Amino acid sequence: MENTTLILIMITNLLLVIFLGVFGFLIYRLMKNQKKESAENPSSTEGQPAYHPAILERLKEAQKIKSRSHLFCPNHPEEPGETTCGICDKLFCKSCSKPFKSLHFCREHLPLVMNNHWEEIMTVKTSTQDPEHGVRVYDVKKEIFEKEDLPTYVETHYKINIDQDHIETYLVVFAMMDQVETIRPRFEATSL
Ligand SMILES: [Zn+2]
Ligand SMILES: [Zn+2]
Repeated sequence: MENTTLILIMITNLLLVIFLGVFGFLIYRLMKNQKKESAENPSSTEGQPAYHPAILERLKEAQKIKSRSHLFCPNHPEEPGETTCGICDKLFCKSCSKPFKSLHFCREHLPLVMNNHWEEIMTVKTSTQDPEHGVRVYDVKKEIFEKEDLPTYVETHYKINIDQDHIETYLVVFAMMDQVETIRPRFEATSL
């Protein structure tokens, strides 16, 4: 009698294991199919507009070229960019940028720098107390150039502090004489 019960329990266990196995396998198949479906049709599940696969391929290519091209000279796609222009901050190859003062300028902006009178509008001492200040200066420079077409350039000056025996770094912002009044308040706001 006891043996029969034991065998019955064992059979039940065996059936349970088989059942779980089959059930698990079915769930696995179901999930795999769903995954495959969403991979074939990536836009359908994410609420994005559905693109034709050929268009998606093109978009990917375009993105690749775009991310690659900003490391190369915009005038010479074969030449790696070496220096950034002090006005537009774009990367140019050696033959497309020329050194002037302590910076480099592109062909478009070198004449602008050379043929105009530029005034020092603000000097920022970069300090360990407020290391973000320098970042804010460059942010304003970028913003007013891109959105309002107001060119500025920033020179880095070094001074040796003999008393404390260390080198101090200053960012000196320059603007064209007739734009000084417009530009100065924008940079002064960075020290608030
Ligand atoms: Zn430039
Ligand atoms: Zn070039």
